Amino acid sequence: NKKLLMHVGPVDIYEEVLYAGLKNNVGFTSEEFVNAFQSSLKRVRYLFQADQTYQPFIIPGGGTSAMESVTSFLSRGDKVLVVTNGVFGDRWLNIFKKYPVEVDCLKADAGDYVGIESIREKVKQKHYKLITFTHVETSTGVRHPIKESVEEIRDYVDIIVVDGVSSVGAEEVKAKDWNVDIYLTASQKAIGAPPGLGLLVVSENAMKNLKGENIAGYYLDLNNWLPVMRGMEEGKSAYFSTLPVHTVFMLNEALKLVQDEGIENRIKRHEKVAGAIRAGIEGMGLNVVAKKPEAYSNTVTGVMLKKVKAQDVLAEIVKEGVELAPGVHPSLQGKYIRIGHMGWVTPNDAVVTISALERTLKRLGEDIKIGEGVKATQSYLS
Ligand code: PMP
Repeated sequence: NKKLLMHVGPVDIYEEVLYAGLKNNVGFTSEEFVNAFQSSLKRVRYLFQADQTYQPFIIPGGGTSAMESVTSFLSRGDKVLVVTNGVFGDRWLNIFKKYPVEVDCLKADAGDYVGIESIREKVKQKHYKLITFTHVETSTGVRHPIKESVEEIRDYVDIIVVDGVSSVGAEEVKAKDWNVDIYLTASQKAIGAPPGLGLLVVSENAMKNLKGENIAGYYLDLNNWLPVMRGMEEGKSAYFSTLPVHTVFMLNEALKLVQDEGIENRIKRHEKVAGAIRAGIEGMGLNVVAKKPEAYSNTVTGVMLKKVKAQDVLAEIVKEGVELAPGVHPSLQGKYIRIGHMGWVTPNDAVVTISALERTLKRLGEDIKIGEGVKATQSYLS
């Protein structure tokens, strides 16, 4: 059963990445593992376009553990501002609710992003210790203008955090040049590794706030992980809690492939595939969820349906050999589907996805122009 996985993570994983984890006898203190971890840490800096002044972390879990570990930089009563464009922006609210901090929030409607003006106004009114952004809101496929937002607020907020789970490895991300303090991602998205790891880079400025006295729990207190990261980078084994050794080998191989392709080439490839998919959606007569073209992402496209139910489309398109993702934004529940296009996606994947979607929608009775989507995708690509 040949199937094309156009999902939001895990995505299609290269065989050499999977094989890198097939090891029967690697201990967590082995030279082989320490070497893999050491090179992964260096590659993480490259991935986020961070330099030596940034401290990389590779921790178990994924996007959410990386997010929650940010509590390591906070003290009781600190003021936090969450800028949320959807479900994963809201996740920050759900996390901070569990901790003794004061949280304010700026929220956008589904398909939109919070305007820079209102963010600037908010941070001028109150001094926030930390602010969070979501680079690409996976629930809607909306990209937030990080560089421009950070420029506006840098002088007002101590620690600027960006969730790059659906952007890192596929969108322009420049932790250092953009002056972002904490940029984070997960292994299963645009890097093309299996799920299981959260990755972060942390600026010198933010590291000054990593104090013993913080509100973090035990497992996700980065104070506990820091000696492991530092030791490993020096080529020495270190232990706090057992790392997913085999997943780290796979991550290291995936990061090597990212580096071999080159981050700029990788971004261009994602941009091209995303453009081809959007052209196809609009060509067949449907709309994307993201409202403003400047916010279209390279990694996720939400597709609004007119008559048919999302769950029927997802179930039927699998029979056509393509797996897509459900829409998860509560205010659009059942009304849209998501196409994930990250990792090792190609222009051919865009053509196949659009053609399978057209056939599926036509069969289900959706109001589309069959053939026009593929035509638009082909024109875009040629
Ligand atoms: N942030 C974003 C933008 C995401 O897309 C996701 C996962 N879809 C997460 C955070 C949470 O990551 P995880 O599921 O790996 O915990």
